[in-house]
Amino acid sequence: MSQALPVQPEPAPETRVDLKSLTREQLTAWVREVLGEPRFRGDQIFRWLHAKRARDLAGMTDLSKALRARLDGVARIGGLALEDVKVAQDGTQKLLFVTAAGDRLESVLIPMEDRVTQCVSSQIGCKIGCQFCLTARMPMRRNLSAAEIVDQVLWAQEVLGEERRVSNIVYMGMGEPLDNYDNVVASLRILMDELGAGFSSRRITVSTSGVVPKIARLGQDVQVNLAVSLNASYDAQRTSIIPINKAWDIGQLMAALRAFPLPPRRRITIEYVLLAGVNDTVDDARRLVRLLSGIYCKVNLIPFNPWPGAPYARPDNDTVEAFGAVLRDAEYTVTIRYSKGEDIGAACGQLDGVS
Ligand code: SAH
Ligand code: SF4
Repeated sequence: MSQALPVQPEPAPETRVDLKSLTREQLTAWVREVLGEPRFRGDQIFRWLHAKRARDLAGMTDLSKALRARLDGVARIGGLALEDVKVAQDGTQKLLFVTAAGDRLESVLIPMEDRVTQCVSSQIGCKIGCQFCLTARMPMRRNLSAAEIVDQVLWAQEVLGEERRVSNIVYMGMGEPLDNYDNVVASLRILMDELGAGFSSRRITVSTSGVVPKIARLGQDVQVNLAVSLNASYDAQRTSIIPINKAWDIGQLMAALRAFPLPPRRRITIEYVLLAGVNDTVDDARRLVRLLSGIYCKVNLIPFNPWPGAPYARPDNDTVEAFGAVLRDAEYTVTIRYSKGEDIGAACGQLDGVS
């Protein structure tokens, strides 16, 4: 007589609400509706999570034991585990994180004299598929939750210690932020909240490959700096390296930038990856000047950062400087982002969540 094998119970799906993914407004509403607690309890929990960086309920000592026990049944605290920190020769640090499900992602800390900039990831993988980007070569796993985005910054602050603070945040790590719109906007609201980490909107930049309809929405929903990866000077060239250009071409992208609501004295950042022999000529630079006319912007040139098997090369410095000179002659502010942290695979376009 055959005996049935015991059936392994499936792990129960996580139904508890993730407190760390909620904006303060959402958290106070949830506390009132689900727990029947007053508004200030929501503020208290928010402060524990985002200003004091509490990672469990047990540490929230000004909440009664009974309330903590109730919370434990219906809520959880999402986020990441920090697995490793690599330090490059130039001081750049790469933080390797693991999610609860065991997926890996990276964030980069770039200390400079007067500030520390952190580059955060918004997705594990990316489905945009830019030809020059290593993240595009890994399978698209999933969107990060707001807690997982915010936690990169909270962990970075732990790594830096009391002496230094993360001063600027750029959404330029793994993923296309505007393809994970709701969680990215929630993470921005959380990071800018005065009861949390309290970042000023001037110190946060969201970078997009050009998801045109979401650019307009972002401008309405939250005030942060916008960076756009233009990377080409005409449509056929852009389509060959950034497939999203088929959905929204350069003309549509430029129209979205012209319509973007910019606070006084702020400018859009135009990012332009320079690929040798592809988009790096003086003619390209001249076309770029014409494209940008009427857009209040500055230009960030990024000489290509190579990765094994990449189909592109970095142009030599003379080519980069000649390209920059055309833009400067046209009175644009140009910065050239010579790579940081290349020896540990932490430069732009070198993040793959593995090494
Ligand atoms: N998905 C968003 C943000 C992440 S990519 C975006 O594309 O804007 C951040 C920047 O790195 C983009 O400007 C992108 O064009 C650039 N980049 C990607 N791969 C690169 C590489 N190998 N070398 C240099 N820059 C790269
Ligand atoms: Fe995605 Fe940005 Fe890489 Fe393009 S450059 S594949 S949009 S992360």
